[in-house]
Amino acid sequence: MASAAAPDQAQPGAEGREPEAAAGQCRGGGACGGAMRVGLGRDFHRLAKGRRFLLAGVELPARRGELGHSDGDALAHAVCDAILGAAGLGDIGELFPPSDPAWKDADSMALLRRVFSMAKAGGWRLAGLDCAVTCEEPKILPFRAEIRRSLALALEAPVAIVFVKGKTAEGLGPIGKGKAVEALAVCLLERARADGRAEAQ
Ligand SMILES: [Zn+2]
Repeated sequence: MASAAAPDQAQPGAEGREPEAAAGQCRGGGACGGAMRVGLGRDFHRLAKGRRFLLAGVELPARRGELGHSDGDALAHAVCDAILGAAGLGDIGELFPPSDPAWKDADSMALLRRVFSMAKAGGWRLAGLDCAVTCEEPKILPFRAEIRRSLALALEAPVAIVFVKGKTAEGLGPIGKGKAVEALAVCLLERARADGRAEAQ
């Protein structure tokens, strides 16, 4: 069959045929035998009293939690954008617009599972995820293992390739004053099959 057909099938929602998509179809293995894509996600949320502080669905004890149209889970949102960017599927604002009442108080881990299922349908699986969360409180470290497990479960990946670290802003700016939280995520997706064609879903 024509080798150009698979990338479009493999990437629902992709705008046009991307030249890079053909890389996963190189014959004979070697450097182009397994296409990989990197994705970056970044998210901020204001913090306010009376809200929950969620990171990848794990609730941390804190005096203030994330404000947001959804549940405000900054880490889940950053990971969504990293996956979507790597798979070329858009961004979280397009898929789940804050103007849409359907996403009010939405469970952000359900959104992440939905995003990952889209990437999976496009023939991708997670090869690595690294995240950094910056906030003055609470401390991330005591919850790191649980957060990593939660992300790994949603992304159908071993915990060993999912990492999260906590940082503070050293008292600087709105994050340093405890008014906001920032989450950053970098992910690597690889073709689920070495020949670059999507697996049947
Ligand atoms: Zn967000």
